[in-house]
Amino acid sequence: MTDNESKTPTNFIKQIIEEDRKNGKNDGCVQTRFPPEPNGYLHIGHAKAICLNFGIAEETKGLCNLRFDDTNPEKEEQEYVDSIKEDVRWLGFDWNDREYFASDYFRQLYEYAVQLIRDGRAYVCDLNAEEIREYRGTLTEPGRESPYRDRSVEENLDLFERMGSGEFPDGSRTLRAKIDMTSGNINMRDPVVYRIQRSSHHRTGDEWCIYPMYDYAHCASDSIEKITHSLCTLEFEDHRPLYDWFLDQLGIFHSQQIEFARLNLSYTVLSKRKLLRLVQEGHVPGWDDPRMPTLSGIRRRGVPPEAVREFCDRIGVAKADSTVDLSLLEFCVRDYLNKHALRVMAVLRPLKVVITNYPERQTEELEAVNNPEDPDAGKRKVPFSRELYIERDDFMEDPPKKFFRLAPGREVRLRYAYFITCTDVIKDENGEISALHCTYDPATRGGDSPDGRKVKATLHWVSAEHAVDGEVRLYENLFTGEDPDDAPAEKDFLSNLNPDSLQVLRSCRLEPSLKGAEAGTRYQFERLGYFCVDPDSSHENPVFNRTVTLRDTWAKIQKGKK
Ligand code: ATP
Ligand code: MG
Repeated sequence: MTDNESKTPTNFIKQIIEEDRKNGKNDGCVQTRFPPEPNGYLHIGHAKAICLNFGIAEETKGLCNLRFDDTNPEKEEQEYVDSIKEDVRWLGFDWNDREYFASDYFRQLYEYAVQLIRDGRAYVCDLNAEEIREYRGTLTEPGRESPYRDRSVEENLDLFERMGSGEFPDGSRTLRAKIDMTSGNINMRDPVVYRIQRSSHHRTGDEWCIYPMYDYAHCASDSIEKITHSLCTLEFEDHRPLYDWFLDQLGIFHSQQIEFARLNLSYTVLSKRKLLRLVQEGHVPGWDDPRMPTLSGIRRRGVPPEAVREFCDRIGVAKADSTVDLSLLEFCVRDYLNKHALRVMAVLRPLKVVITNYPERQTEELEAVNNPEDPDAGKRKVPFSRELYIERDDFMEDPPKKFFRLAPGREVRLRYAYFITCTDVIKDENGEISALHCTYDPATRGGDSPDGRKVKATLHWVSAEHAVDGEVRLYENLFTGEDPDDAPAEKDFLSNLNPDSLQVLRSCRLEPSLKGAEAGTRYQFERLGYFCVDPDSSHENPVFNRTVTLRDTWAKIQKGKK
């Protein structure tokens, strides 16, 4: 969010806005809005819209409103309103006191509708939903006019008022715009403006039994708020003539709708309807499950907001749909955490090591660097003692050629500590390796050998006696295919769920500095990846979510392209 006014605008929307400002349109002012419907939690796709709308306002010294598009009482809840506010704030944006609800405008919207009726631009129609659909025609066939289309203004005013006062059953009548049943654009074929629906609204309760339709409410709300540029996703392109029609007929402030491509992400579904199914059908425990692409999910996973914003910057804003590779998001996460996360040692699948020539009951404190990328991050002490844990994967009794880590008779470095050599492999009654016996070289304290002796591997470790027990949750993509919607006939995206998306490791051993780590804190576990403390943690036993591994697949993809 750094391109200031003197630079060339970085996307076509900014170019349009820049041009409008130069021409003094709207007195050179810019007012945008982010208009979520509170019918689910926000996802990373919404982050793109948030960064775009709030970002443009920031760059143009304009304002961005937060507006809840709450015109569909059946699906909307206060829980969603609260989560949306939390998520927008988390991303680092502020709408100050400009928090609006389409439902705040219900009275005004009603009056606008009356105006449309008076002007002969809207009529009450007695066709039911099914019939309206039938009359509407298809892409290739024009629609037919409703038999109720030519009611008098007086009759329409009377019927609309009675619709509003609750005289008619749900769905029995609608208010429709009188436009053109033969229009090539189906949206213009006398769209419904108001419907009768007796459901309690999360804010207006039972005050209304008629509710405005989205297309009507949205443009009018934009106008009421004097939104100069109303940015929305591509699927609304065909709705733009209707957007313009309503505002032109009403003769009120005319916001300009501009469409951009929505974010699609590989291995990910970005639709609240589908995400809701994942939650409701129990495929994940909640909206904030760390595998979910919701902002609350990725926050819990450990993704920093800075990385999401960087990601949104890098993907840009275009007019054509495309799918972004998930590895780009991971790259942004790694890039940020590499500079900002403290490094610690944690052993996820512990294998005990006894240093046979190290004095019993002795402990020493070794110095470890908190983050080599950040000189200000300082150093810390890590305890070392005779019994340690290393990663089970870091030892092989009978190693193949390319395995350079610990093996019988081999010497490796323990990070920040000593060189050790494996002398014995201890097995239990089942023949499973239960411990290793090693010797250490006291002259290699700190991890350097005075005689220039080289080792091929450096392992992380934790002192057994000092270790904190913890749980680590490893995540893989929630879906196996790049496009989760690419499912066999008669099946849907759920058939592509990855059965191995979660692996829980319950006997991890963590260095003692991680005791009492606060939920939300992010670390690099040396050699393993980035991890974030989960709210399920207790003071004694932290729980960590793996945010990302250290493998940078994005760089690989870029290299392959060159
Ligand atoms: P969904 O399809 O997930 O249900 P929606 O468009 O119905 O999303 P809204 O609450 O209406 O959800 O969206 C609020 C704003 O966020 C809209 O301006 C919408 O265009 C934008 N938005 C939603 N999904 C994406 C996406 N994947 N990429 C970019 N912008 C999006
Ligand atoms: Mg929507």
